[in-house]
Amino acid sequence: MLPTITTIPLQHLASGDRLFLQLYQFTGQLGKKVYIQSNLHGGELAGNAVIHQVMEWLGKLEPEQLFGEVWLVPVCNPVGVNQRSHHYSPGRFNPYDGENWNRIFWTYEPSPEELVEFAKSCESYSLADIQQRYRQQIREAFEQLGEELHTQAGVPYTERYRYQLQSLCLDADYVIDLHTSSDQGGDFLFYFQGRESSAAMFLLETAVLLDDQDGGAFDEAFIKPWLALEECFGEMGRSLQFDIEAWTLELGTGMQLQPNSVQNGVRGIKNYLMQQGIVAEAGMSGATTQFASRKQLKRYYAPMGGMIQRQLPWQSGAIGTTPLPNPQL
Ligand SMILES: [Zn+2]
Repeated sequence: MLPTITTIPLQHLASGDRLFLQLYQFTGQLGKKVYIQSNLHGGELAGNAVIHQVMEWLGKLEPEQLFGEVWLVPVCNPVGVNQRSHHYSPGRFNPYDGENWNRIFWTYEPSPEELVEFAKSCESYSLADIQQRYRQQIREAFEQLGEELHTQAGVPYTERYRYQLQSLCLDADYVIDLHTSSDQGGDFLFYFQGRESSAAMFLLETAVLLDDQDGGAFDEAFIKPWLALEECFGEMGRSLQFDIEAWTLELGTGMQLQPNSVQNGVRGIKNYLMQQGIVAEAGMSGATTQFASRKQLKRYYAPMGGMIQRQLPWQSGAIGTTPLPNPQL
């Protein structure tokens, strides 16, 4: 099965060069839509290799083996990817305004009163019908945003860019955003409330609940309106969960394609697509994912500048460790 490839213009540079988004769409039988992207932070390259291998795998399938669509954008932020300073990439932040590229996204945020009114109007509806109606509301708000962008003068690039990127996943069921640490890091994923069983499908050792959100992240912008509606229904005495999921996978170290991290990402995404019934192959279950919450994470700061030397020998598989030639030094 070959993907449909679409090239979407993004930016016209002073040099005359143009930047584009390249979208790869695999379409099978009727089913759900999965959206996968990487390189939102320009120096975080592992996801690019992961998408490459996932596309090779999807390409070997017959259309009858795919239930739904998988959309992939390997280089979802060409401006960030092209940022380099010698061998280093400062591609985490927009060089024009200093904003973190993963804190810029628009989210649909109805007021509490509007949410209650909507929930009440859906009391006799099935979960699928509520999902369809709410999606329509999100779409209408997004279209309104688009009209404002197209009619106003002086719209910054960031706003046009985020609108373009989010337009690709607004109607998705599952969104996967691939990152790495900016520095050294392990392999884990961020997940949202109530999605533990799906989180385990990625077969990673650790999943961190995003219970401490700082706003505007890509995954959060996608799922937040749905979580708000679930909470609203819960307060009204109807417990429900929409079949909507958003994930951020963290796959190792920035500016590197660490083979283990790439392999973990590929294995996780393939298994997720199989377990969710998007790809008709048997996946693996029984993962021993450990769950933690973001509020439990502890940051450490050095009390003063200086050098850090490890006192313990490097252990294979330990998060955030790097082998030293001689641990005694
Ligand atoms: Zn990142």
